[in-house]
Amino acid sequence: MSETIRIGVLGLQGDVEAHCDAVIRTGQAVPVVVRDRDELAAVAGLILPGGESTTIGKLLDRTGLGAAIAARARSGMPIYGTCAGMILLATAICGSQQPRLGLMDIEVERNAFGRQVDSFEADIAAPRFGATPLRGVFIRAPYVRRAGAGVEVLASYETRIVAVEQGRLLATAFHPELTGDLRVHAYFVRQCMGAVSAPQIG
Ligand code: GLN
Repeated sequence: MSETIRIGVLGLQGDVEAHCDAVIRTGQAVPVVVRDRDELAAVAGLILPGGESTTIGKLLDRTGLGAAIAARARSGMPIYGTCAGMILLATAICGSQQPRLGLMDIEVERNAFGRQVDSFEADIAAPRFGATPLRGVFIRAPYVRRAGAGVEVLASYETRIVAVEQGRLLATAFHPELTGDLRVHAYFVRQCMGAVSAPQIG
């Protein structure tokens, strides 16, 4: 029997616990809260939770963990970013020079849905995760203004792109960890299992 896979949840700030719970409930992996390079070294994949992207970005820079995460990503470690995590993955953030990982060829706009609808829920069709729509929980969420040629759009809300994938990088503007629907986490865990068993190339 293969060893249980360990999935990291970046634990600098944000909704860390909800992601840990979701990872546990997939029944396929155990969560590890990642706050330093040693903890990062122990995981097969990493979830970047929602929270405040400016705060998390500054802490990633200050601790050197950002550079370590980028290096792991370049050698094939899967990363899943939700909300602030999506912002941190983006190469471009509209009107902001805030620190970021900058690993995905996307441009995002923060707090994109305006103050009136600051937080809302909507059904989001995302065939990659199954025929039934996901319940999208949006909390001061970003959206993707531009997705590069190598980026696959997995879901949109009205005209706005809210879920993307580029190689082993996955990002959603919404929060599946708050819904009890484990399909996105289960998908990510499978990606991590594949990354561990696949030979590293490039
Ligand atoms: N608005 C937050 C940011 O820009 C993200 C909100 C969230 O992660 N729920 O960092």
